[in-house]
Amino acid sequence: MTYVQGQTGEWEMVIGLEVHAQVTSKAKLFSGASAAFGGAPNAHVSLVDAGFPGMLPVINKYCVEQAVRTGLGLKAQINLTSVFDRKNYFYADLPNGYQISQFTQPIVGKGEIILDLEGGKSRTVGITRLHLEQDAGKSMHDQSPTETFVDLNRAGVALMEVVSEPDMRSGEEAAAYLKKLRAIVRYLGTCDGNMEEGSMRCDVNISMRRVGVETLGTRCEIKNVNSIRFVMQAIDYEAQRQVEILEGGGTIKQETRLWDTGKGITRAMRSKEEAHDYRYFPDPDLLPLVLDAAWVEAIKKTLPELPDEKKQRFISAYGLTDYDASVLVAEKASADFFETVATGRDGKLAANWVTSELFGALNKMGKTIEESPISGLALGGLIELISNDTISGRIAKDVFAEMLTTGNPAAQIVEEKGLRQVTDMGAIGAEIDKILAANADKVAEYRAGKDKLFGFFVGQVMKATGGKLNPAMLNETLKEKLKG
Ligand code: ADP
Ligand code: MG
Repeated sequence: MTYVQGQTGEWEMVIGLEVHAQVTSKAKLFSGASAAFGGAPNAHVSLVDAGFPGMLPVINKYCVEQAVRTGLGLKAQINLTSVFDRKNYFYADLPNGYQISQFTQPIVGKGEIILDLEGGKSRTVGITRLHLEQDAGKSMHDQSPTETFVDLNRAGVALMEVVSEPDMRSGEEAAAYLKKLRAIVRYLGTCDGNMEEGSMRCDVNISMRRVGVETLGTRCEIKNVNSIRFVMQAIDYEAQRQVEILEGGGTIKQETRLWDTGKGITRAMRSKEEAHDYRYFPDPDLLPLVLDAAWVEAIKKTLPELPDEKKQRFISAYGLTDYDASVLVAEKASADFFETVATGRDGKLAANWVTSELFGALNKMGKTIEESPISGLALGGLIELISNDTISGRIAKDVFAEMLTTGNPAAQIVEEKGLRQVTDMGAIGAEIDKILAANADKVAEYRAGKDKLFGFFVGQVMKATGGKLNPAMLNETLKEKLKG
């Protein structure tokens, strides 16, 4: 557990996250207008989104299905009856004067997310709820010196708000939570999880308490943090700020704060006293949302294998370590790539090549796994050559480098460059004899007890043969011959 060291002792962070995840849907939550990212301002606006009098919202069944899928993916309770409420407030980018959301009866209740932490450790964080709501439009203050423009393209786009229990205790845990939540929605295809484009946004709630104390301290909420790195930075800054106030004898004001990316600080935005009174009430334009239990069951049957299950299968089926399995399942594309490489081959070897060599190379090139110049099948081909002793692991690295630049298959490179490993005992013996004859003095020293020289002989033989001798056979034969 990581505690925050103050002047007068240690403090514990208490963190709860609220994540807005945009539903991957062609149309908005209550209208048929396009929910696509971008587009000319106000190109994706229907009369419903613009709040014209007499317009009625019609629920988008596809969005409801995505919320249910996400709920099931979070192992959460699905509420067969939920209610849409009006959350009332005035703002220029909210033409109706209210946002349709869910308050007392959300579509999804309690669930959980398992965090994968350092050293193969894991921890379960409770999910309080998931509800469906509309996004708002956007006011643009920077287009003209005298006017503000409003773009309603996002107004009415479906969001899932996922609220966690205050179960996290460090910035790392918050990061692990966001990564896992993002992986789950991406596996499910219910949200693209793209924080840069704003399709996943995070409000961070944080309070501090003395180590050992059970009761929760007063929290602050940092609104709309748009990257995992900023979430971690905001948490560390805010924890320090709150500890300084508490140790100075002050009290924390419950308030909403903003993360200032440029300065690396949080700033007060509004206090609880100024907080909105949203006057929630059930939207009279919408009936309660009643789901058919059989429909929910049918959706459950279509769920893909999710990261936690995939990780367990990778560990048991391929003999991977907890760590390697976590790394590979973090992105579905990496997991799929690994399976292509590993199927019918040595799983551990495949995991090593994917996580160290391939990820390392992609990192250097600034490429994603989808853009890998070496396909899963091609890397599998290389691994086969190692497994069946055609080439050594050392030579395989050279072949891999060649595959990266030329895109040629491993077998072709090995043949063209004559890299096939020498496994012929006679040939290996002959190479060793040559080296021993040329280094008679060293041989004498070795036989007199200077064991360390063994490595020297291996190096000399390898150098003379371009590293092509089978290392195990070389070691064995060399030992024999050195005995004299
Ligand atoms: P609101 O609706 O005002 O945002 P909620 O009670 O729904 O308040 O809580 C929102 C988030 O704040 C949840 O993720 C919850 O876990 C977290 N939270 C609540 N109390 C605390 C606290 N004392 N410290 C840290 N996080 C908290
Ligand atoms: Mg909140």
